[in-house]
Amino acid sequence: MEKIRVYSHSACLSKENGEGHPERKERLESVLESIQMIDDRSIEIKEAPLAQFKEINLVHPQPYLEEIFSMIPSHGLVGVEKEPYADTLLCPESKEAILRACGSGISASKDLMDGSSKRVFCAVRPPGHHAETSRVNGFCFLNNAAVAARFLQSRYKIKKVAIIDFDVHHGNGTQEIFYEDDTVLYGSIHQHPLFPGTGLETETGVGNIFNAPIEAGTSSEAFLKTFKEKILVHVDHFKPEVIIISAGFDAHKRDPLATINLNSEDYFTMTQDIIEIANRHSKGRVISFLEGGYDLLALSESIQSHFKGLSL
Ligand SMILES: [Zn+2]
Repeated sequence: MEKIRVYSHSACLSKENGEGHPERKERLESVLESIQMIDDRSIEIKEAPLAQFKEINLVHPQPYLEEIFSMIPSHGLVGVEKEPYADTLLCPESKEAILRACGSGISASKDLMDGSSKRVFCAVRPPGHHAETSRVNGFCFLNNAAVAARFLQSRYKIKKVAIIDFDVHHGNGTQEIFYEDDTVLYGSIHQHPLFPGTGLETETGVGNIFNAPIEAGTSSEAFLKTFKEKILVHVDHFKPEVIIISAGFDAHKRDPLATINLNSEDYFTMTQDIIEIANRHSKGRVISFLEGGYDLLALSESIQSHFKGLSL
């Protein structure tokens, strides 16, 4: 039974997106309440630090960061993307939330490598998997998972990192960042067609990208089968030294942004399968980042299942 370390911060609750926006602070509140229901002998909650620019620059160039932070308003909200994606917004508290969401992955990486924890969950927002090298997208500014992967490689002697993305949307940002980098495997299962529109099976990078697009209405059984056969098989073969999960819970049947039919328990099955590979090849080292998931009850239940899997 592995203890799970959790990074979060109150600043991640201060990020506002305005009335009616699906990426709202209640999501993280629901996740944190669910985590607090778990026996505290099996979890340890810590404050996420601010990511340093030199760490973020491993993925995102400095002019990109300066541009984002220069747009932060002193009051109200400002949209960063152009139509039709005008729903990626900055509010006055955005900078700290963005830096702490990214910083959680830096601390998580250090924990894995100094042996203080093998399983770390980053309960943060804004999410990251749509953020490209120099492009804000889909509620995401910095690609938290990608920065952690590059940090592990640059600070430690880690060569191969696998990023497994079971959020219902394709992680176009993570794919773009590692498209020509065979030291990082990116595997994503996602509803297609759906935002952001990328993630076809023909998008293979340098043989390191594995996409499993699935149709609207896909059943839980079919989803789990595809996840194993089109994603996990390749991760197992790759033998990663660390596994990073982009854990979105929006393929849940209750989620309002997609139409896949996962049950809360399915997140246990998927996590269990990932942990089995991590224990075989990666010394059990796993970092999981909260990405999407927009139904509060689904989030709360799915987190319980995910943690049950992470603790194996
Ligand atoms: Zn999503």
